[in-house]
Amino acid sequence: MAFCEYCGKRAEEGDNNCTACGAKLSVMAQQPQQQSQAWQQPPPQWQAPPPWQQVPPTNQSAKTKAGVGLGLGLFALFMPIPFLDVIAGIVGICLSASARKEGAGGLATGGLVVSILGLISAIIFTLNFLI
Ligand SMILES: [Zn+2]
Repeated sequence: MAFCEYCGKRAEEGDNNCTACGAKLSVMAQQPQQQSQAWQQPPPQWQAPPPWQQVPPTNQSAKTKAGVGLGLGLFALFMPIPFLDVIAGIVGICLSASARKEGAGGLATGGLVVSILGLISAIIFTLNFLI
């Protein structure tokens, strides 16, 4: 579909002159087709997601998990309560390991180490308590 460059009125494909203002349409007839081709190609930005979507965000729940895991590890390590310390150590390891996978970083690694140490000390303490 062609449009007159001078008055903007729609012109038929076969017309040589605009029916409204009489301007020549021979050159204009091809321009709208080029524009429509450009419209069909989406901008390259549409293909790739924005950079902030590619970086996995360190979500707050992972940090909370890591903090709770660290707390349970410390609890298992320092509180002399048999059985409960073992449970706290195991849960602390699970939470810290899960938080590490979710990208909580150093806090989760610290929680994992402390929870493992806490679990070992809790098992020793619980065994001593039983014997
Ligand atoms: Zn015209």
